[in-house]
Amino acid sequence: MAKIFCIANQKGGVGKTTTTVNLAAGLAKVGQRVLMVDLDPQGNATMGSGVDKRKLELSVYDVLLESATVAEARVQSEKLIEAECGYDILGANRELAGAEVEMVDLERREKRLKTALAAVDAEYDFILIDCPPSLSMLTLNGLCSAHGVVVPMQCEYFALEGLTDLVNTIKQVHANLNKDLAIIGLLRVMFDPRITLQQQVSEQLKQYYGDKVFNTVIPRNVRLAEAPSYGAPGVVFDPSSKGAQAYVAFAQEMVERIAKM
Ligand code: ADP
Ligand code: MG
Repeated sequence: MAKIFCIANQKGGVGKTTTTVNLAAGLAKVGQRVLMVDLDPQGNATMGSGVDKRKLELSVYDVLLESATVAEARVQSEKLIEAECGYDILGANRELAGAEVEMVDLERREKRLKTALAAVDAEYDFILIDCPPSLSMLTLNGLCSAHGVVVPMQCEYFALEGLTDLVNTIKQVHANLNKDLAIIGLLRVMFDPRITLQQQVSEQLKQYYGDKVFNTVIPRNVRLAEAPSYGAPGVVFDPSSKGAQAYVAFAQEMVERIAKM
């Protein structure tokens, strides 16, 4: 049975996609079988895994509308397989933006992804879902499918405030739709230890959320930002970079944390 995680934060540009693709590659590197689901119509996780979103024949959109199964729609990326960091990809593109509206009248619309993933559950150790920057029907589908949420966050002044909204949403989903859902942890990303404010917010995070804060810290590292233009996660693009090493350490921390769940 796969453990299913959403990478979520309703803020944009906080490192969700970077975390999803690098965690997927890091987990694959340490021998885990991984499916990455792109739930963002921007398709950045798809492109960042080396799959051209414009050339997708089937995508997560078809899966949500039940015109394709996950087994039919998933694809692989040559570049990842060559680097021995291969994971399966259920891609997304602009078409997905329409799903929100098209699903409005459908029954059990928030459980569509969950139902679809159940069919491939046995084939993976981890399923990672990259959520869009909103608390929309798409994100809800992600949250209803998952055992847990990984929240990447920058240690900035308003970070804690935004977190309250997300935590409340997760509590509501837990209470009404998905009893399995838990916050697995908060991941500090784009961290720069030279900035005093970041250190202060990091300390506050640990005070409020205790061991929900992952031990691994992802540094700000330009190689992680350059990797998408090469069509690969940083872990594959430049494995020796500080950012890539941090994500592989994070993958190991996830494996350990899950073993205790
Ligand atoms: P989100 O998916 O939350 O919108 P992204 O993962 O796309 O966020 O990240 C936003 C931007 O920040 C991207 O340009 C990405 O390359 C860059 N970025 C993410 N993490 C890091 C990091 N640790 N160091 C440097 N740049 C990063
Ligand atoms: Mg993103």
